[in-house]
Amino acid sequence: MKSKNDFECKICGVTEFNFDVRKSDYTYVVCAGCGTSIIYPLPTERILNEFYEIYFEDGGNYLQTRELDKNVYFNDYDQTFSDLFFELKPQWKYLDVGCATGIFLDYLKEKKCVDTKGIDVSSEMIKNANRKGLNCTTEDLLSLNQKFNLITLWDVLEHFIDPKQSLKKVHQLLEKDGNLIIQTPCRGIISQQLKDEWRHYNPPQHIYLFNQNSLFRLLTSTNFMIVNWIRIGSGNTAGTIPLNSKKIFDTISKNLGIGDNIILWAKRRD
Ligand SMILES: [Zn+2]
Repeated sequence: MKSKNDFECKICGVTEFNFDVRKSDYTYVVCAGCGTSIIYPLPTERILNEFYEIYFEDGGNYLQTRELDKNVYFNDYDQTFSDLFFELKPQWKYLDVGCATGIFLDYLKEKKCVDTKGIDVSSEMIKNANRKGLNCTTEDLLSLNQKFNLITLWDVLEHFIDPKQSLKKVHQLLEKDGNLIIQTPCRGIISQQLKDEWRHYNPPQHIYLFNQNSLFRLLTSTNFMIVNWIRIGSGNTAGTIPLNSKKIFDTISKNLGIGDNIILWAKRRD
């Protein structure tokens, strides 16, 4: 166990870390206090900005795939909300953080929820969202000051340099009794088995890889109450194993509650 005096876990404040994995010139260390795996040293804002610019420049394919798979995404959202016993309300105000081309806002529109806003770091993605007539901008989360009834973070919490600061801001942006939905990778049995082959070791984008306890701890410490959660994903990315096998493994992982992603619903506490 090594003490890193220059580095403190933003989740639990501990300064002791163990080596986790080495991946594409980056090192992940595990916090001895909460078990979160974190890129060490943290990537700088400059490196991240450069990375995302190049990453999304070639975003054409990614964007098209998303639009083609629209029904798959919509069915997944239906399933998720039904699993969580969560109901969308047409009169609510919605914010989707990391909205990309706005596929979730498209879904909300179909559900007659029209007061929506999306933000994303990628101007390329936002241009595409705007072309569809969606209310999306490249504003920074920390600069917003409206109020919302539901804020969604689909696969974005792991990208933040300081997830605690971001969640404090989300808390501020929510109405009293407001709702938060987070989907993020989740360390556990599957990541332990796959070691450095785990699909979510994805530097420099995936900075924080939580386990269920460290994520719950982060939410409690930022004044959220967890209402419900599910764990999905068997660790297999589409196309790497036969579809039938993937379905079976995914179902088993979900039913056992060991999936390598977590989706949770939390409510703002005062
Ligand atoms: Zn920690």
